[in-house]
Amino acid sequence: FHDRDGFIWFNGELINWRDAKLHVLTHALHYGSAVFEGIRAYGGEIFELTQHSERLVEGARIIDFEIPYSVAEIDEACRQVMKANNLVEAYLRPIAWRGSEQMGVSAQHNSINLAVAAWDWGSYFPMEQRLKGLRLTLAKYRRPDPATAPCKAKAAGLYMICTIEKHRAERAGYADALMFDYRGYVAECTGANVFFIKDGVIHTPTPDCFLDGITRRTVIGLAKKRGYEVIERHIQPEELGSFSECFITGTAAEVTPVSEIGEYKYTPGTISETLLKDYMELVQPSKQLAAE
Ligand code: PMP
Repeated sequence: FHDRDGFIWFNGELINWRDAKLHVLTHALHYGSAVFEGIRAYGGEIFELTQHSERLVEGARIIDFEIPYSVAEIDEACRQVMKANNLVEAYLRPIAWRGSEQMGVSAQHNSINLAVAAWDWGSYFPMEQRLKGLRLTLAKYRRPDPATAPCKAKAAGLYMICTIEKHRAERAGYADALMFDYRGYVAECTGANVFFIKDGVIHTPTPDCFLDGITRRTVIGLAKKRGYEVIERHIQPEELGSFSECFITGTAAEVTPVSEIGEYKYTPGTISETLLKDYMELVQPSKQLAAE
């Protein structure tokens, strides 16, 4: 992905995409000392930009460093990248990391760096195709105990097991894997939160050891606005067979129905469809979904 035209915001400057390089002794590469964001822009508008910038700054603090830019400056960097690359429908990837000045677990005096890349990313799967749903398998690795890992940070190191599980799922012909937590409760997918529906009520895992996604919170708001009951609670794996609908949420996934988890089957129904449409209308109010 490094060999292409465009501009990347790198420590305060817009530089050529191909020149946005790091040294091999970068602390973040060896010890996982990086936090990042995934943000989307629709019709030139960056969705919930400030919430993402705040999560980045907060995540860095959680993993013990202070990004040398304010939330407002990070917002502005994102806007500059959009403009420099003439983007309208886009995915933005801010990342903050410890640099390469000192080598070892301790990196008290290493530089703290920030870069923002952005690229063209239209989302529009036809509604019909989305409603067919994704097939998920069950992950083996579990989301760690908050006493074991800084699970509220969108930290690079926490994605190690996500990549392993995503690859395992893809090799077996699935779109993604459902991950459980350290207690065995249903947690999330490798890059998205999960929701279930039973008897007209929405159930979603309590985000006490994984990311409380910005899309997740948005969708809960949309559901409540529709008058749907949303219950956040611990969900046992044995319950997976008792739900009628399932969908995942995330900046990249938006709202995407699930048709299968292991041996269990789901059929996207009114609630999934309504929330998918409500979400797309919220993020891209100008688009006519009916025209898809
Ligand atoms: N969980 C994980 C592991 C993720 O990577 C993401 C995507 N950032 C989410 C949940 C959903 O978060 P958001 O809705 O803020 O994108």
